[in-house]
Amino acid sequence: MPHTGFEMSPDPFRLRDPLRARAFADLLARWTPPRPVRIVHVCGTHEITIAQHGLRELLPDGVEVLEGPGCPVCVTSTRDLDRAVKLAESGAIVCTFGDMTRVPGTRRTLAEARAEGADVRVVLSAADAVAIARKHPDRPVVFFAVGFETTAPGTAAVLLDSPPANFSVLCTHKLIPPALSALMSTPPVHIDAFLAPGHVSTVIGARAYAEVAERFHVPIVVGGFEPLDVLYALWLALRELREGRAEVENAYPRAVTADGNRRAQELLARAFEPCDAVWRGIGTIPASGLRIREDLARWDAERRFAIEGEPGEERPPGCRCPDVLMARAVPADCPLFRTACTPLSPVGPCMVGTEGACHVWYRYGGRPKL
Ligand code: SF4
Repeated sequence: MPHTGFEMSPDPFRLRDPLRARAFADLLARWTPPRPVRIVHVCGTHEITIAQHGLRELLPDGVEVLEGPGCPVCVTSTRDLDRAVKLAESGAIVCTFGDMTRVPGTRRTLAEARAEGADVRVVLSAADAVAIARKHPDRPVVFFAVGFETTAPGTAAVLLDSPPANFSVLCTHKLIPPALSALMSTPPVHIDAFLAPGHVSTVIGARAYAEVAERFHVPIVVGGFEPLDVLYALWLALRELREGRAEVENAYPRAVTADGNRRAQELLARAFEPCDAVWRGIGTIPASGLRIREDLARWDAERRFAIEGEPGEERPPGCRCPDVLMARAVPADCPLFRTACTPLSPVGPCMVGTEGACHVWYRYGGRPKL
């Protein structure tokens, strides 16, 4: 792992220190890039930190930071949502995270299906869904599993722990490194560096990005979630660009190692195998999803129930979610932002998920706090 320059203080209260933030801003301001630079992160929590603390105000002219496909709720395809809705309509108890119930599918949301009598329940984990299955042994209970490498180990652990026969998983977990490759492979590309998500990286390790960095000659810096974590990571990314390097650097060493969490990786490998996956707004990305392994097929809702989603992707008229998810637009570029589209009346998925760029911009609006 390349040398990262200096270590951050392990004291979390020092990671919101305005004086240190100002010192970072001064450091960042020392280099004005000769052309516009775009750094992309793929993490709703990073966007919340950046917007809530007004970090964009501290960036030098010509440097912008955009959120790409970092919200797991936003990138879940309408086909997968339709399948969850159909399962609920067919009499299964469908359990999922709260935001997922409000994301529009082709015909309706899970919340709308529930309003018409379907049994849709909000849970905090796959284990909660298993508890519901044990309580209702006479009914099929399906956990609609979304999320990246951070949440997938929890689903894997449940699958490997012999859950009850009436339990199954509609698995739509997705992987971050193939998404970075897809962003770099789909023209027009204007991405100069990535800020990689700290929590995903605790599982997969910083080294997991090396292939993408090398193949596309793009700097990738793993960042934590406190304001100074983000500023430090952005500074490292800009330093790589200034020096013409394209390496993986770890700006979050207090949580992320080069190799990640071996135990979690082992759970993932035993429960899942990679598969192609459809990302809302992006399309199919090869080997970017996780499918339940054959020996656990009896808990795979896809194999167990004959359910199909609608073939097309729902694109609400005027919604720029595909551009936002590809890091080609910011929420304010959408004519519906804050007018027709609000968290109470979302038009597209990026306004539904609390980690979606549009939702975050609506809540915080870039308001500086430092
Ligand atoms: S503001 Fe609403 S309609 Fe516009 S891109 Fe965001 S989610 Fe889609």
